[in-house]
Amino acid sequence: MDKQLSSIYDSRFTNMSELSELYQQVILDHNKKPRNFRKLESANRTAEGYNPLCGDQLTVYMQMEDGVVKDISFEGSGCAISKASASMMTQSVKGKTKGEAETLFNEFHRMVTGELDEEATPNHLGRLTIFAGVREFPARVKCASLSWHTMHAALEGEAATSTE
Ligand code: ZN
Repeated sequence: MDKQLSSIYDSRFTNMSELSELYQQVILDHNKKPRNFRKLESANRTAEGYNPLCGDQLTVYMQMEDGVVKDISFEGSGCAISKASASMMTQSVKGKTKGEAETLFNEFHRMVTGELDEEATPNHLGRLTIFAGVREFPARVKCASLSWHTMHAALEGEAATSTE
């Protein structure tokens, strides 16, 4: 990520239109250039996720070593939100311990379902908070959380998950 973009990510948002503009920029950017979008040959865990409501599907490849997510990638097809979320999920989880990855999964899930006030509660979400807006759109919550559920399934050694 270039310096200018990361400083935009770090700034506080004063109004919703600003947030939604940033949200759109980030979604577009990750759609055009999804990060870690490939099959990972060194993966020792894989899981498939499916969101029947929207048709999003993806495979998460994970290489776990000594309790750390050494590498992670994804492949699949789906809407812009699901793809951008998967791209950012891989960036966030790479290099994290199993416990840290689980914490991120829990915080992200609570944020998009409206259980976590990310402004008021200390958390580790960082730039992932741009997805907070999806809680206003229940059908989109599953698009945003699909990759996280799939990553969590891989972490737990499960082969598949569905948002149903
Ligand atoms: Zn979707």
